[in-house]
Amino acid sequence: MAESLNDIFLVAFVFMAVVIAAFWLAIVIWASRDMRMRSRDPLVPILVGILVFLLNLPGLLIYVLLRPRETLSEIYERSLEEEALLQEIEERPSCPGCSQRVQRDWQACPHCHHRLKKACAHCGYLLELPWNICPHCASSQINPTSDGSIPTSSRHVQPAEPAPIDARWVASQELD
Ligand SMILES: [Zn+2]
Ligand SMILES: [Zn+2]
Repeated sequence: MAESLNDIFLVAFVFMAVVIAAFWLAIVIWASRDMRMRSRDPLVPILVGILVFLLNLPGLLIYVLLRPRETLSEIYERSLEEEALLQEIEERPSCPGCSQRVQRDWQACPHCHHRLKKACAHCGYLLELPWNICPHCASSQINPTSDGSIPTSSRHVQPAEPAPIDARWVASQELD
């Protein structure tokens, strides 16, 4: 009877030892892997693994308290966001007449009345002033101006021969 009780204790002891060892190993691997996401230095995750291996749960607690706040991918994402924001600020157009900030969809500067864009005669898409063809509907923008003359910017195109347009493509463009 005492023999079998001893066996049960032995089995329970081995079982507990295996569970504790597996748990110990798991937190060492977790901490090391977590640190690898936060540092480019390949040595630091190994040091973290050793710390957690030696101190176990208190070591893990110390690591969690002291680890870098952001992972490398979070830092990368943040830098991308900042870059995009900076680019947006830099790319906001300014009026060539008075240098005030203007919106992309403005046709004229509200501050100095400088002409900024023109609307496509066919679809209303906003075009840069020198453009002779609408990139949206491909219709030619060569219209005689009010005094009958052709704008100087039109000298590179042939108003008589608009580029052939695939009818299906135009139809698909008109859907939206
Ligand atoms: Zn202006
Ligand atoms: Zn158009």
